[in-house]
Amino acid sequence: LRRNPGESEFHQAVREVFESLGPVLTKHPQYVDAAVLERICEPERQIIFRVPWVDDAGRVQINRGFRVEFNSALGPYKGGLRFHPSVYLGIVKFLGFEQIFKNSLSGMPIGGAKGGSDFDPRGRSDGEVMRFCQAFMTELYRHLGEYTDVPAGDIGVGGREIGYLFGQYKRITNRYESGVLTGKGVTWGGSLVRTEATGYGTVMFTERMLGTRNESFDGQRVVISGSGNVAIFAVEKAQQLGARVVAFSDSSGYVVDEAGVDLDLLKAVKLDERGRAKDYVARRPGSRLVEDGSIWDIPCDIALPCATQNELTVDDARSLLSHGVRAVAEGANMPTTPEAVRLLQESGVLFGPGKAANAGGVATSALEMQQNASRDAWDFAYTEERLAEIMSGIHDRCAGTADEYGRPGDYVLGANIAGFTKVADAMLALGVI
Ligand code: NDP
Repeated sequence: LRRNPGESEFHQAVREVFESLGPVLTKHPQYVDAAVLERICEPERQIIFRVPWVDDAGRVQINRGFRVEFNSALGPYKGGLRFHPSVYLGIVKFLGFEQIFKNSLSGMPIGGAKGGSDFDPRGRSDGEVMRFCQAFMTELYRHLGEYTDVPAGDIGVGGREIGYLFGQYKRITNRYESGVLTGKGVTWGGSLVRTEATGYGTVMFTERMLGTRNESFDGQRVVISGSGNVAIFAVEKAQQLGARVVAFSDSSGYVVDEAGVDLDLLKAVKLDERGRAKDYVARRPGSRLVEDGSIWDIPCDIALPCATQNELTVDDARSLLSHGVRAVAEGANMPTTPEAVRLLQESGVLFGPGKAANAGGVATSALEMQQNASRDAWDFAYTEERLAEIMSGIHDRCAGTADEYGRPGDYVLGANIAGFTKVADAMLALGVI
């Protein structure tokens, strides 16, 4: 705490992982002897830089850029970039720290990192977004490389931003180094299924959790917060599996659509038009927008928080429980507060933590890197099958580890321990570096 003052999200993420590790440290004192805990929560490298750019009115704008290269014991740094006004070092470090364990758990050879900027792409023209991305990459490029650090998208960074970032990287380095960024368009080095992967993966993971109780998505009422990259494709997969998704949200409020979310309309409004929740409601009879209050007040069997950190509080958990929720899985990173997680778990709700449930995105990014390295392009069905296998593997690793440590069904403990031990073993093997 003294070393990282004011970084509350980072403290929360570290505490959540460390709280699970007691039994591992007792069983493996070599981790203590080698100061693995102290080392793992100190980033290998942190880069903070000025991003100057010119807006459409000709005014100079200054933002702050970040890249926290947290841990490369398992492979090159890998993790997304977030463009949102709330971004500061504490958010980037929380996300980077989570990414270490998520990437480890995915079974792919990738280390953990995260980055971003306090730039807000909302309301900015394409030209402004492009100039910002070019300015951002003008500094960041020197720290990247397919064997060094490979960023991807996150909040506020989708296909458009990745395109502008890749274009600038290519221009500066004079290299078509496809493997330096993931989330690229499929016509220029991207992988099919990457766009869908995080949302699909979250639902696949949840389906596996439900399977342990002989349940499934079929016929269930589902509430999904957010309406971005993750949420939209969680809606799609849940619907494919026979669920009715009755609510989604954005930062202007939440939409209730009892007939079941119209996915085509949602995609048109959010992906094509970059519109707001009210634009969906205007074209969807029977739906309504609620501007105040919590989306978790809507009764559901399965809740998938897919917007942002700390969006599901202990009061929200009480509300979900009062309506009989049976499973909660985190499509977003750390969307559930620690008190809410505890209450849900103590109440017997299946709870899938983000570092396991939303690992499908980064895992498919690693598949994109594989395709880039072999100059290949896999078809949709094959790639989705690989994603399903990966999510199944993550589920089984979490469940198996929870069993091994005497806490069956505790996916939080299972994810933290399984993610940690693989990285810790690699750190021991690589020596004190
Ligand atoms: P997007 O920017 O595409 O979408 C985010 C959604 O959440 C938007 O609907 C946004 O609404 C809403 N939102 C964001 N911040 C807030 C806030 N402070 N209050 C209320 N609503 C908010 O991001 P992604 O879908 O990519 O990411 C969502 C979450 O999933 C994040 O936690 C991210 O770290 C995590 N994640 C993403 C992965 C990916 O592959 N993209 C991979 C793994 C995790 P509005 O548009 O109004 O701001």
